[in-house]
Amino acid sequence: MSDQEWKGVLVFIEVTDGKVQEVGWELLGEAKKLASKINQNVQALIIGHDVEKFAKDAIAYGADVVYVVDDPGYKNYITKTYAKAFVEVVNKYKPDIALIGATNLGRDLSGAIATVLKAGLTADCTGLDIDDQSKKLLSTRPTFGGNIMATIFCQKGKPQMSTVRPKVMKMPEPDPKRQGHVIKESVPVDPKDLTVKILEYIPDSCLESVEIEHAKILVAGGRGCNTPAGLDKLKELAKLIGGELCGSRPLVEAGAITPDRQVGQTGKTVVPRVYIAVGISGAIQHLVGMQNSDCIIAINSDPNAPIFKVATVSIVGSWQAIVPAVIEELKKRMGRQ
Ligand SMILES: Cc1cc2nc3c(=O)[nH]c(=O)nc-3n(C[C@H](O)[C@H](O)[C@H](O)COP(=O)(O)OP(=O)(O)OC[C@H]3O[C@@H](n4cnc5c(N)ncnc54)[C@H](O)[C@@H]3O)c2cc1C
Repeated sequence: MSDQEWKGVLVFIEVTDGKVQEVGWELLGEAKKLASKINQNVQALIIGHDVEKFAKDAIAYGADVVYVVDDPGYKNYITKTYAKAFVEVVNKYKPDIALIGATNLGRDLSGAIATVLKAGLTADCTGLDIDDQSKKLLSTRPTFGGNIMATIFCQKGKPQMSTVRPKVMKMPEPDPKRQGHVIKESVPVDPKDLTVKILEYIPDSCLESVEIEHAKILVAGGRGCNTPAGLDKLKELAKLIGGELCGSRPLVEAGAITPDRQVGQTGKTVVPRVYIAVGISGAIQHLVGMQNSDCIIAINSDPNAPIFKVATVSIVGSWQAIVPAVIEELKKRMGRQ
């Protein structure tokens, strides 16, 4: 099949527990930019049960065509059934590019699809573009421990596939007046593929209440304040200002915070209004996860710490001197003393 037959930029819209994962909307914004560079359309694919209602939102966020595979058989995510539906839609409509959010589900699904389609897949991209000459997708991602950025393109295999983590791409403004087509696809689930039976869904009780990627204010601790007293102060500060606690990898390795609270290349990407980094040096693997925050306040005893290069407000000093003083001052101003 010639390359010209593959057209359009397709975005997978993930629905979990009846809610759309916002990364789908973020990717539609990015898909619009890519599609305009190659004069192609933007397509969305929604798979699940009772999901057709999300098609109008997909159009508002930038899709020209929405393929919907809506069937009770897709109520729960099972790699085999979702991958089959995805592959069937791809083989029928032949999108040139397929973008998937790098959520747990997206990572699992994308690998399964790429293997069946024999397509090239670039995971965890931080930038997407189109090559001026070849018109191929350019997928940029950190590599070699985050020390260099690699731009990858697939010479063979279609669609060109990439996964992108939540919050890496900017959320587009939805336009409720946008028009588009909704195409319902019937891909019946083969009972033989229901190799997993979901008996009950129990949310992980270890997970703290708010996921850090949704928090507006984050207080992040690093190795420089990894003591019980240091963490207590960070928790107190976070509680006082309505924020969430997170941190660098050493804190996870020390068991001070859970892995879902790690920010960075092997953790989460966050874009809060305020990111307060305490005792964090600012290694590239940490910066890639937080450098797009609106306001970064860094507290570090080393005036040459790399974190200060990305900080909006730089405070040189020990957490022992700064954090308790900030807490006291905030309490005074909030009338809590
Ligand atoms: C493949 C790979 C993936 C990785 N992924 C991640 C990731 O996802 N997230 C991540 O965070 N890291 C990641 N890392 C690790 C990363 O390279 C750094 O080692 C890590 O981010 C350093 O954490 P830190 O800043 O807390 O500690 P350090 O680099 O040890 O910095 C501690 C800082 O605290 C300051 N300090 C010391 N005492 C005080 C005090 N009393 N008050 C104030 N400041 C003080 C010091 O000046 C120093 O700047 C990864 C590494 C690799 C190789």
